[in-house]
Amino acid sequence: MSKNDIYWNPVLETLPAEKLQMLQLKKFKRIIGWAYNNSPFYRKLYKDAGFEPGDLKTRDDIKKIPKTDKGMLREVQSRAPFPYGDILAVPLNEVTEFRQTSGTTGTPVYQADTWQDWEWWSECWAYILYAQGYRDTDRVFIPFGYNIFVAFWAGHYAAEKLGCEVVPGGVLDTEARILKMQELKCSAFMATPTYVLGMADTARKMGIDPVKDLFIRRITCAGEPGASIPTTKRRMEDSWGAKVYDHIGATEIGAWSYECTSQPGGLHVNEGFFLIEIEDVETGEIIEEPGRSGKMVVTALDRIGKPCIRFDSKDVIQWADHGCDCGRTFRIIKGGVIGRTDDITKVKGVLLAPTAIEEVVRSMSELGNDYQVTVSKKGDIDDILLEIEFNTGYETKKEEVLSRLKDFLRVKVNLGFRIVVHPFGSLPRYEVKSKRFKDLRKEKDGGGH
Ligand SMILES: [Zn+2]
Repeated sequence: MSKNDIYWNPVLETLPAEKLQMLQLKKFKRIIGWAYNNSPFYRKLYKDAGFEPGDLKTRDDIKKIPKTDKGMLREVQSRAPFPYGDILAVPLNEVTEFRQTSGTTGTPVYQADTWQDWEWWSECWAYILYAQGYRDTDRVFIPFGYNIFVAFWAGHYAAEKLGCEVVPGGVLDTEARILKMQELKCSAFMATPTYVLGMADTARKMGIDPVKDLFIRRITCAGEPGASIPTTKRRMEDSWGAKVYDHIGATEIGAWSYECTSQPGGLHVNEGFFLIEIEDVETGEIIEEPGRSGKMVVTALDRIGKPCIRFDSKDVIQWADHGCDCGRTFRIIKGGVIGRTDDITKVKGVLLAPTAIEEVVRSMSELGNDYQVTVSKKGDIDDILLEIEFNTGYETKKEEVLSRLKDFLRVKVNLGFRIVVHPFGSLPRYEVKSKRFKDLRKEKDGGGH
């Protein structure tokens, strides 16, 4: 196979690390100069900190540049131009795309992109899809609402760019989408893990076995961590008889990472378009070594309408200590996003990441896909309630399964849980993104994200 058959961009994706770093620095200088000269918000942020674009000479200087965060992005929206605020680095008439974040609490962040940015979005997604084996022979179904959230919009355009045949599953309901996928013999689709599992359930209720009666070979997931949680990934792959690949991106940042067909246990960062720094949560030091987790500080090196520079994403990630068989030199973050600094919380003095609970619950075939976790305070003591469902046919093995679940949780999460079993089908079902983890202690303080 020639390099052109493996990589979307054979030059960039195999660039040696030193050259990649030189390119990132060059692009960083360009975007910071652009933001300083064109965005009143960035200009003030840097002036107040005594920083000027000319001060950026080496890669090491990057960490001196002030960071941005979601709170700042919300705050600027109270200023002109409406509705984006003075972070905008282009005249308003150059904005062609409106999107917004889907944050469950607080004001959404409005996202402006120019046409150039929009082409950049689909280019970033082209790396993702090509690395996951999409080719011009694929017929790709997109079961997504085509609304104000960026979600799979850019995935749609990127699939077209690759030459795939794209079927927009817009306003159809789940049953109609399944029938359309069957009728057209679609070979791939993109959805959140919650929806991937939900669609398979719906198909089976309709008497359609996704493995035997449909033709899906690959699924691209985004929006939730499930495709990087091995047990959830396996559930999805078994339900569809297809390979499931992860992608992580964000409205304010862009499509910054992707799993490739080698599935190295993590995602490649698209280092041609993004600079990822991992910052130690306690010391603020930038972590270069693998295996040590911290929060992600990210720069979109080419986004011009509303630049994203040293954005504190609150995602917790770590570098992998290995490369990838696929030959890409883009570094790998191990296991995807492990959690968020908001969600990783101390319970009974132990650090708890909600993804670890998901991994345990989804590892047991006797348990249903749906569960809920609620952390609260009973007096001075933290209480963790885990609500689960048994899959039909396993009710008689209840005691044995519950004791195994408790053991797994103790080993993996190192905490005791109060477990309540509900009849199958009675816990809340989520259509697109799930909200399975509730920390009532935080909600009292007005926290959350
Ligand atoms: Zn790879």
